[in-house]
Amino acid sequence: MHEPFFGGNEKEYVLDCINSTFVSSIGSYVSKFEEELANYCKCDEAIAVVNGTSALHAALHVVGVKANDEVLTQAFTFVATANAIKYCGANPIFIDVEIDTMGMSASSLKIFLEMNAEIREGKCINKNTGNKIAACIPMHTYGFPVNIEEICEICENWSIPVIEDAAEALGSKYKGKALGTFGDLGVLSFNGNKIITSGGGGAILTNNPKYAQEIKHITTTAKVPHLYEFHHDQLGFNYRMPNLNAALLCAQLEQLDQFLVNKRELAERYKDYFDKIGVKFKWEKNHCEANFWLMCIQLESLEERNSFLESCISAGIMARPSWQLMHTLPAFKHCIRDDQKNAKFLQERIVNIPSSYRSIN
Ligand SMILES: *Cc1c(COP(=O)(O)O)cnc(C)c1O
Repeated sequence: MHEPFFGGNEKEYVLDCINSTFVSSIGSYVSKFEEELANYCKCDEAIAVVNGTSALHAALHVVGVKANDEVLTQAFTFVATANAIKYCGANPIFIDVEIDTMGMSASSLKIFLEMNAEIREGKCINKNTGNKIAACIPMHTYGFPVNIEEICEICENWSIPVIEDAAEALGSKYKGKALGTFGDLGVLSFNGNKIITSGGGGAILTNNPKYAQEIKHITTTAKVPHLYEFHHDQLGFNYRMPNLNAALLCAQLEQLDQFLVNKRELAERYKDYFDKIGVKFKWEKNHCEANFWLMCIQLESLEERNSFLESCISAGIMARPSWQLMHTLPAFKHCIRDDQKNAKFLQERIVNIPSSYRSIN
């Protein structure tokens, strides 16, 4: 579906890292990558971690999500988004998505809050459960930007911190600004199937120096710097990215712009073809720039989707449906949700088609 492509300085940097013997979390490639990523996304701070899921967990932790809190997100997402909320002992609330962006619907979010929430002592409280609504995680589905400005504005009115799940969206922009830099924090993934990869990896973006410092601290076991003592001032995590992975990633980031151009060319060819045969190929909205991480078509019905998938599989073409909706999975079936009309519509119709970088055109 999306193969990694190693066409740059990968071998040179990884070999250099091995020769240095600094293969673990202390090493120059980690800080080099963090600096280059922050520059690329035009934000103040980037912190590299072991994967996108741990990035989400650390981000939820620093905005203060605690056991029994509630976190707004979408059911139309990869399971990692909902898992990270559960790791904090909190519960997801699933808000419906929009058909065109496939991301959280700002109007559904607004309606849910107006009907179910109130502000008590500066905090947003779910009136039905009495629990705090402690964060909101919209997800930029397949690299298509959600209506992030409007979501941030609604959340600000309700005193809810925003964590963008931009795991799929490195290189995508909304009104010319990188995704992952609108919310209080943004999360990226560098898993093997993402647009650039470190084998496994993730990052947190933020313009808030307090959050950045706290994330660095808790992701390195909360160890207090000292000449020789091992003192840890709170419960910490071992989430920092190893230097070996960062070396690979530095080489990948150098090629990101080239990947984006190449993928857009493929997207344009797909669009021409699917327009001609009357199939909806998912495209970015006017003021948005998608990275076209996974390209999608929207078929007419569940029956058409299934027969398309079966034809592709028997022809040896990689194609797959979108994820099953979170509230239909055993771990999340008890969760609060709205009607999920659009999520259900998309889940029955969206198919991802081969989206890899092509070294030969
Ligand atoms: C890939 C992904 C993540 C994080 O995945 P990791 O495999 O832990 O790096 C989180 N959310 C979404 C939507 C993803 O696609």
